[in-house]
Amino acid sequence: MLLGGRPLAEHLGAHWQLALSWCGTWRQRVRDYLTDALEHLVLFALAYTVACLILYALIVRWRALRFRRDVRPSRRVLFVIAHPDDETMFFGPTILRFTQDPACSVYLLCLSTGANYGMGKVRKKELYDACKVLGIRDECITVQSHTKLPDAMDTRWPAEIVAQIVSHHLQSLGIDTLITFDKHGVSRHLNHCSIYYAIALLSTANKLPKDCQVYVLETINVIRKYWKVFDIPICYILSSVRFITNASDRRLLYKAMTQHKSQFVWFRRLYLVFSRYQLINTLQRMDASDIQLDLDVDDIQLADD
Ligand SMILES: [Zn+2]
Repeated sequence: MLLGGRPLAEHLGAHWQLALSWCGTWRQRVRDYLTDALEHLVLFALAYTVACLILYALIVRWRALRFRRDVRPSRRVLFVIAHPDDETMFFGPTILRFTQDPACSVYLLCLSTGANYGMGKVRKKELYDACKVLGIRDECITVQSHTKLPDAMDTRWPAEIVAQIVSHHLQSLGIDTLITFDKHGVSRHLNHCSIYYAIALLSTANKLPKDCQVYVLETINVIRKYWKVFDIPICYILSSVRFITNASDRRLLYKAMTQHKSQFVWFRRLYLVFSRYQLINTLQRMDASDIQLDLDVDDIQLADD
């Protein structure tokens, strides 16, 4: 059989050859493109790594870069946490920043003894020992043991009770800066989140002291949580308040965590090595419009539950 004056097999063979050479050309183009892209990616990763390390070195050497644009000078700072070990595991860089300032008095209010496994007394003692390492004096620490505030992942603490306790401490200690968890509580532990909503309640009811500024520790996604030094540029872009530790600060945090002997299991040791909260804290000022929105959403969620 003839096609265009040539046998059909010869005709198809020519097309087949053409198709093969076309495929070969495209395969080569794709390979070149991927090689180029990979080279660019490696170069970018190297440049980003170098930039992060230089930035970190500058921050550690030049303290002015570490801090904040909008934190007013603080003289009396209160950290409100839910359990013994929250102070070291999450707030360490911020606590060290304030305890290293001789003009600043630092107070800690822990709303439970962490008695989840009947270890309340032990954990309370461990908290005091850890705070000693961090520079918080014994007389500046209060640990609550309230039946309505149990240490339990899935228990939302009553906002009114937490608000009342926090309000009492703010007033009696003359606090000008309050620092606590944000609405996601770093790990979405409901005890942590409860503190945010209680303080939001105080704020909307105008029960916070006039001169008291409130900051919350930003919860970050799981990738950033373990990105350590690589998260620094992102912090500078997204957060206005940041506290970054140097090597000696991190040694102190490690020592403080070793005081929590009952909690110092293998996965917490790993956490200390890899967690970004040991290197960087970023804070946000509590904003009135955000608070109202959060309380509205919270009401809807409670209604759904
Ligand atoms: Zn906790």
